[in-house]
Amino acid sequence: MNKDTHHIPQAPRTAVARPRSIERIVAGVSTSDGDGVKLTRVLHQTLQQRLDPFLMLDAFGSDNPGDYIGGFPNHPHRGFETVTYMIAGRMRHRDSAGHEGLLQNGGVQWMTAGRGLVHSELPEQEQGLMEGFQLWLNLPAHDKMREPWYRDIQSAEIPEYTQEGGVHVRVIAGSSNGVQGAMQRERTEPLYLDITLAPGAEFTQALPAEHNALVYVFRESIYVGSSEVPTKRMAILANEPASDGVQLRAPRTNHSPARLLLIAGRPLREPIAQYGPFVMNTREQVVQAVNDFQNGKLG
Ligand code: MN
Repeated sequence: MNKDTHHIPQAPRTAVARPRSIERIVAGVSTSDGDGVKLTRVLHQTLQQRLDPFLMLDAFGSDNPGDYIGGFPNHPHRGFETVTYMIAGRMRHRDSAGHEGLLQNGGVQWMTAGRGLVHSELPEQEQGLMEGFQLWLNLPAHDKMREPWYRDIQSAEIPEYTQEGGVHVRVIAGSSNGVQGAMQRERTEPLYLDITLAPGAEFTQALPAEHNALVYVFRESIYVGSSEVPTKRMAILANEPASDGVQLRAPRTNHSPARLLLIAGRPLREPIAQYGPFVMNTREQVVQAVNDFQNGKLG
């Protein structure tokens, strides 16, 4: 579907009386993963408890093929979900269960690793911009060994809405101002929004105080209360017990629309034991995952 011509509904504005403030701004760490893919690890291991149920957020974006062309050849996962959101570019996914899909411009791949699989994520382009995000969402202890599952969500399948004053929202997961997202998860109740704000535009979102929440700005800057979040920064939003939501505003001085991810979820409050691509509850379970992988039991 052509985004320029299809109808995008308007949504009412939720009143938020006591919006959250910023607890901390995080720059992320430049690193590389897979076969030399350059990325910024925005949410890294030291923030996993604080941002429970989220385990990792990587941002990648480059128009230099050398930064992405190697992709992520065959590797395993167990115990959580990966959510890959492609802003620009094309990535081919193949896994050991025989699934295959092409993730491209504005689309999402939601994969539940569960008890485990081996997959590859490889660019299907040799030049041009590749930009996107990969979020790791933890699974509750009783779901960690469930059957693997995945869904390719094409861009046109992601619900969108607008609001007066220059607000445009893509609802990848959860629910926003009455609009149901493409994905729902019961226990962790993830909210995943891609929000574009024209200069001066304001956005509000109801959110339970105990849910952990972050904002990642990737175009221009925004304000949360009186604090500015610059581009390519993550703001961890405080869990003030009386807060009832999130209020974001793009400064009038921005030269172009601000764009950001708002990600939130209900914490699991379970032990986290991680070794690379395996995230379980105990060290013994992680050792078991490594053994199962080495013995070819992940696919
Ligand atoms: Mn992977």
